[in-house]
Amino acid sequence: MTDKHEHTDEPATTWRVETQAVHAGERAQKAARSEPPSAVHFTPVVTPIYRSAAYVYDDVSELDAVFAGRESGPVYARYGNPTITALEEAVRILEGGEVAVVTASGMAAMHLALLAAGAASGTKIVAARDLYGATLTLLLSVLGPLGVETVFADSTDTEAFCTRIADEHPAVVLIEAMSNPLLRITDVPAVAAAAHAVGARVVLDATFTPPPMLYGLRAGADFVVHSLTKYLNGHADVLAGAVIGRGDEARMLVPLSRTLGPNLAANEAYMTLRGLKTLPLRFKRQTTNARYIARALAHDPRVGRVLYPGLADHPQHAVARRLFARGYGGGMLAFELAHGGEEATHRFLNALTLCLPATSLGDVYTLITCPAMTSHREVAPKQRARMGITDGLLRVSIGIEHPADILADMHGALTAALGPVGADTTITEPVLA
Ligand code: PLP
Repeated sequence: MTDKHEHTDEPATTWRVETQAVHAGERAQKAARSEPPSAVHFTPVVTPIYRSAAYVYDDVSELDAVFAGRESGPVYARYGNPTITALEEAVRILEGGEVAVVTASGMAAMHLALLAAGAASGTKIVAARDLYGATLTLLLSVLGPLGVETVFADSTDTEAFCTRIADEHPAVVLIEAMSNPLLRITDVPAVAAAAHAVGARVVLDATFTPPPMLYGLRAGADFVVHSLTKYLNGHADVLAGAVIGRGDEARMLVPLSRTLGPNLAANEAYMTLRGLKTLPLRFKRQTTNARYIARALAHDPRVGRVLYPGLADHPQHAVARRLFARGYGGGMLAFELAHGGEEATHRFLNALTLCLPATSLGDVYTLITCPAMTSHREVAPKQRARMGITDGLLRVSIGIEHPADILADMHGALTAALGPVGADTTITEPVLA
C-alpha cells in the first residue's frame, strides 16, 4: 500500500531553510502525462489539489503492488493523498524528521503524538505546568479517564523538572519550548536528556517556536507538534496540525493516523503548503518587529512589565540564547499597562486601529489578546495570579507590518487608555532594523 512517507533524502535535506520552505515536497508527481496525441510529459510547478477519495490504476496488478507495499501510490484518501503527502514531506524535511503526519488541527496532531509516544492505560506523562489550555484538557479530561496519569511540574525549573522525571519514570514527557502567555522557556536539551535516561519519549509543542528559530528534533525531542494554524501557514485562513517524529515510535504515527482518521483536507493542505513557502521570510520580519516593539514598550512609562525572550531582562534569556537560533527571540511578546487595571486594558484594546484584538497567533497580522479574558478565562483568578497572569497582561503576536505603524497604533491606544506621556519624559525609540 502507499507508503506516503517513503522518501529520498537528497537533495532537499541539504538545502537551507529558505529553499526547503519553497521547494520541499513539491513536484513529487512526476508521472503526470498530457493527453494523446501529444507524447510530452509535464509536471505542475505547484502540487495540485487532489480531491479524489479513491484512485484507479491502469492495471489491477499495480493496485495490488501498492496495497502490498511494493509500489507507492494513493489508493484511498484516509491512507494518503498526493496534496497531503506534499505538505507532509515539506514539514518533515523542514524539521529534519523521519516521519510526518498532518492533521485537521493542532490538537489532533497532539493527540496522535501522545499516543505514538506511548501514552496508554497504566502509563504516566510528566507534563509542563504551563501548557496550552486544550492540551491540559486532553490530558485531564480525555487521557486521564482512559488510565493515563499526568504529573504536572514547572518545566522552567530545569533541575526540579528533571528530578521529577527521574522519580516518576514516565512513558512520555510533554513540554512547550515557549509557554503561553508568559513566554517562559524550557531547556529542551536538558529535559530530553533526563527523559531519555529513564526511557521516556519527549513530545515538544513547537507552535510558538517554528524553524528557523528552533529545530525541536535536533534539540532532543522525539516528536515535534505544530499547530499549522499558526506560524507555518501564517495567514489566518487554515486550521491544521502536524506531528513530525523520529525513531521507532515515530513509525506508529502513520498506522495510528490511518485508523483514527484525523486527516487534513486537500484544500487546506494546499493552502498550508502555499503559506509555508514564506515562513522564513515572515518569521525573520516578525522577530525583528517584535524586538523593536518590545524595546520601545520597555521605554514607555505607561507600560509595566515587558516579557520578550530576546531582551536581556527576560527571566530565561540565557536559556533562550542557548536554545534558539542566533538573532531569533521570536514573534511573541507580552506586556502589562503600568496601571489602570481592567478598564484601562479595555480602553487600550478598543482604541487599536491596526493591531487586531483576536485570539490566534503567528499570522501576518499583529494580534493582541488579554489572556485573563480569553485563553485563561476558565482559570480561577487566584490561580491566574499565582501563575503570574494578571488581569492587565496582554499577549501580542507580532505581524509583518512595518514596525513603526504597529508602534504608532500601540502608542495611540496607550494614550487613549492612560493619557499622553508626561512632557518631562521622552520615549527613546529603537532604530528600525
Ligand atoms: N498548541 C499551542 C501552543 C497552541 O497555541 C494551539 C492553539 O492555539 C494549539 C496547540 C492547538 O492548535 P489548533 O487550534 O490548530 O488545534
